[in-house]
Amino acid sequence: MTKARVATVWMDGCSGCHMSFLDMDERLLDLADRMDLVYSPLVDLKEFPLEVDVAIIEGSVSSEEDLEKLYHVRSRTKVLVSLGDCAVTANVPSMRNPFDLDCVLRRGYEENADVNRQVPVENVPRLLPRARPLHEFVKVDVFVPGCPPSADLIHFVVSELLEGRTPELAGQCRFGA
Ligand code: SF4
Repeated sequence: MTKARVATVWMDGCSGCHMSFLDMDERLLDLADRMDLVYSPLVDLKEFPLEVDVAIIEGSVSSEEDLEKLYHVRSRTKVLVSLGDCAVTANVPSMRNPFDLDCVLRRGYEENADVNRQVPVENVPRLLPRARPLHEFVKVDVFVPGCPPSADLIHFVVSELLEGRTPELAGQCRFGA
């Protein structure tokens, strides 16, 4: 039996959605019989591969690097899943959106810093003016709200996708914790 090629991607999120993915615990072993995790912060692969069946993305699009990664992932993926409120609505990262980006950077790197008070200009991804949800840039196939979505819900979504079905999530999920 050919295993599905599954990836998880971490953009501007707190990693709580990936922690919830790991909370599937022993059910991960069952899934491992039916899928290969070909890219993820949970495994040591650096390049997003070709021909991924399912890509599950945590976090909003907040930087130029996020956006470039999102387009790259979308171009190599059949089914793209927005996992968690940050991916679906921009959620916590969007709390900066009402403020001017320069003010946000000065607040973080100068006013609230005890040492090395300066906004970095090298070796950090350039922020976009606003944090945005994934679907504002690319086609999203499955939306999974929650902060984070429960391990049970993630297991249901992945299991359905591995069976070739689109998960029916009405009444099974909600925004927030
Ligand atoms: S949706 Fe919640 S748990 Fe997931 S990355 Fe965002 S803040 Fe963290």
